[in-house]
Amino acid sequence: MRVGRPVKPLPHPDCDYCGVPATLARSDDEVYPYRDDHGPLWVCAPCQAWIGVFPRSTRQVPLGRLADAALRDLKTKLHAALEPLAQAKVRRDACNIFEARAKGLKWLAQQIGADPVKPSIHSLDAAQCERAIAILEEFARTRQNNPSENAWDER
Ligand SMILES: [Zn+2]
Repeated sequence: MRVGRPVKPLPHPDCDYCGVPATLARSDDEVYPYRDDHGPLWVCAPCQAWIGVFPRSTRQVPLGRLADAALRDLKTKLHAALEPLAQAKVRRDACNIFEARAKGLKWLAQQIGADPVKPSIHSLDAAQCERAIAILEEFARTRQNNPSENAWDER
């Protein structure tokens, strides 16, 4: 028997730090943290935590969890650690950078026990970011001794 498809509620993330529902802020709002327009953000002003939404998302679906200053910093470091390895893969396998990043993230998610189905830096918490950075640093060291190794490749 078919019943009517349930109406999907609009996504409304809670702050991961205090548990209070986040506020959707736009660039002219008082709580908007950037001077420039970076698109709509889900913000928790007391925690100074925020997350962007998917580009062109009409439902303002958040990219992941809200991130405070410490987590934003870790995500920047993780991105910086991932990028040279993704670019090395592009040079070696002539794939595009999005594919290389996606493969790297998928591999990383498996390493740290995060969801490998939709891997995203924005869904990681601080502990997962720290583990991922440590794994990438170790991987970069091994790769220096053994440049043909690439753990990201499917086996
Ligand atoms: Zn909060």
